[in-house]
Amino acid sequence: MSEERINHMEYMTGMEVLESDVMDKVINHMEAYDYDKYTETDVRIALNNDYRTIEDFAALLSPAAMPFLEEMAQLAKEETRKHFGNSVYMFTPLYLANYCENYCIYCGFNCHNKIRRAKLNFDEIEKEMQAIAKTGLEEVLLLTGESRKMSDVKYIGEACKIARKYFKMVGLEVYPMNSDEYEYLQECGADFVTVFQETYNSDKYETLHLEGHKRIFPYRLNAQERALKGGMRGVGFAALLGLDDFRKDAFATGVHAYLLQRKYPHAEIAFSCPRLRPIINNDKINPKDVHEKQLVQVITAYRLFMPFANITISTRECERFRNNVIGLAATKISAGVSTGIGSHAEDAEDRGDNQFEIADNRSVDEVYEAIKSKGLQPVMNDYVYL
Ligand code: SF4
Repeated sequence: MSEERINHMEYMTGMEVLESDVMDKVINHMEAYDYDKYTETDVRIALNNDYRTIEDFAALLSPAAMPFLEEMAQLAKEETRKHFGNSVYMFTPLYLANYCENYCIYCGFNCHNKIRRAKLNFDEIEKEMQAIAKTGLEEVLLLTGESRKMSDVKYIGEACKIARKYFKMVGLEVYPMNSDEYEYLQECGADFVTVFQETYNSDKYETLHLEGHKRIFPYRLNAQERALKGGMRGVGFAALLGLDDFRKDAFATGVHAYLLQRKYPHAEIAFSCPRLRPIINNDKINPKDVHEKQLVQVITAYRLFMPFANITISTRECERFRNNVIGLAATKISAGVSTGIGSHAEDAEDRGDNQFEIADNRSVDEVYEAIKSKGLQPVMNDYVYL
């Protein structure tokens, strides 16, 4: 890596430093994870345990567990039904902007890619939200690219206030920030924050995130803890599977969530399970293959390790696969998705390019019916404000 790049382990000015040992613990666990040492016997023990330890989780993510996928799926289904009943929660993402100051070499939104950039003004945000609310959805996930300059904290806060008028649950997938900023956004109406760590391998991380604040690995990794300190009710975790060794990344993601759950027992935990998808100008990395079987292994291992966690299945996956995993382990599914900027309202023109191709274009009604046809219950929201 060229020498002028900044040190990815050193905080930039203004970034809050937490007194926390969570990151070190996660990295130590991940570095010690030698998945080839696990045997069929380890997997059987993990499957038979009522409560699964970090060691059990490690066994379930190992290659030795691949022949047990059927059994894992069956047990995951039982755990999911035990804790969530038949409920499958529906939501949609709303991209407010796609400006980004980071240079992630695998992403079409990165600051060097020549794409159409746009940002919704508050009127447009309101119109988009009205259109989404008309579909019956009560949960929205707000996304911006990662540009503090173009989508500052105030802008995101105003968007949360508007969202609060139309939705009962408001999630954020925006750049990591300090705990006082999370506190402000929580006061504006945000309920939960998701941050994708992409990969927990810091050496690999620094070869993929070349410029911008995202290059700072520890600041990103501690985002969920800062969000909880800022008063957010829930936090979401994800590695972009395929960027690096997916078993290690999935293991680190699970351990990260587990340790924060123990430290903040009230926190609502969620996992997303994205795989690398083709994007504009992405010829610089060779994605490591994560096929559907491996993805099922990861999703069911998350469920068996963290029975109460929400698991979201994104539109990067196709209709058939999404329908299957909501029957097994996933509890949240997006619908009526567009990853462009401004495309929900009737008279709106899509002004920004899409971040990635989506593989499931179904409307809210279509996903609703698909959930019902599996004998499951589509749920728009179950949070009651007093
Ligand atoms: S992955 Fe996120 S932060 Fe990175 S370039 Fe894309 S939008 Fe920006």
